[in-house]
Amino acid sequence: VDEDSTPLAALTTFRVGGPAQELVVAATEADLVDAALDAWATGEDWLVIGGGSNLLVADDGFDGTVLLVRTAGFEVLASESPASDRVRVRVAAGEPWDDFVAETVLRGWSGLEALSGIPGTVGASPVQNIGAYGAEVSDVLVAIEFLDSATGERVRLDAGDLELGYRTSVLKRGRRGVVLSVEFELAVNAGDVRVRYPQLAGSLGVELGAAVPAARVREAVLGLRASKGMVLDPADFDTWSAGSFFTNPIVSAAFAETLPHEAPRWAVGDEPQRVKLSAAWLIERAGVRRGFSLPGSKASISTKHTLALTNRGGATASDIAELARYVQVMVLARFGVSLVPEPILVGEFPA
Ligand SMILES: Cc1cc2nc3c(=O)[nH]c(=O)nc-3n(C[C@H](O)[C@H](O)[C@H](O)COP(=O)(O)OP(=O)(O)OC[C@H]3O[C@@H](n4cnc5c(N)ncnc54)[C@H](O)[C@@H]3O)c2cc1C
Repeated sequence: VDEDSTPLAALTTFRVGGPAQELVVAATEADLVDAALDAWATGEDWLVIGGGSNLLVADDGFDGTVLLVRTAGFEVLASESPASDRVRVRVAAGEPWDDFVAETVLRGWSGLEALSGIPGTVGASPVQNIGAYGAEVSDVLVAIEFLDSATGERVRLDAGDLELGYRTSVLKRGRRGVVLSVEFELAVNAGDVRVRYPQLAGSLGVELGAAVPAARVREAVLGLRASKGMVLDPADFDTWSAGSFFTNPIVSAAFAETLPHEAPRWAVGDEPQRVKLSAAWLIERAGVRRGFSLPGSKASISTKHTLALTNRGGATASDIAELARYVQVMVLARFGVSLVPEPILVGEFPA
């Protein structure tokens, strides 16, 4: 690794991580394709970075080429009929996610308003099927344009090919390549949208299921997220994070019976044998509180949200990884549940 190159800390929201061997910034789709094909031809390791908001990069950095996606723009695809109440939009991978969401709300399109304020890029949105406040990108995603590293070919993958699930997809599970653009189908002039999440309904002062303008949903979501440190703010260390560090564990219904009855649990789709637990509840009840840090460490649990691990300024990737392991050990010892990290770990972490 070339020590003179830019540390990847500058490109991630955790603000940790050593340099990449090589960094290529791609501002057009053609450059992105060329850069990817060049990197793959070397046979060396490579990594795509968008907003760096779901990455924990090791202090020693990344021994390979980083493709930094900075493509921009979107196009409205011809709708099937002029009277259609749906619109299809194809968005460049490098477009900042929340800029795009804001634009859709301004145009009176609905479907993405509950996903307001999530950091990162459009191209990363299918990778872990981003979700918040009762919505997931899979609700409105139609297809992606994908440069497949196995073949070097550009293919269109429909939503069904992506196996989008709770914070996962084939892209997160190992199908490698570059998302070049994402196609969404949204409602046009839909008027009001239904509020599907209790906390959101509470903040809007309406009943669950009530219909309110998408713009009001966006404002309420941004407010709720900011109060939890879930909107990027350089002045707030609680946002020097990757958002939630652990996914909510999905366990068998039989196992869930062994937990204290007050442990929150939710149904998983229409699978009666499986239930989703609250990672935040498990962590708190295992004795790890908001603001907690290990002695001498500059990494801590967010003061606003138990699920976020944060850099208080000057933390190393090892500090964050150590805190993550501590949380995992505490929850495993107390409840027998293994918490799975949500962000992607890049580079070498000491065992
Ligand atoms: C404060 C905060 C709040 C957050 N809140 C949420 C939330 O509410 N819900 C949620 O789901 N997530 C949340 N996240 C996590 C993160 O914002 C999302 O996962 C986001 O989609 C990551 O986008 P990115 O561009 O930053 O991806 P990166 O961090 O740059 O990359 C993440 C992964 O996607 C891959 N990738 C990125 N772009 C491409 C591409 N074009 N082609 C192929 N692979 C690609 C990378 O290689 C990597 O494996 C939050 C993060 C932070 C910091």
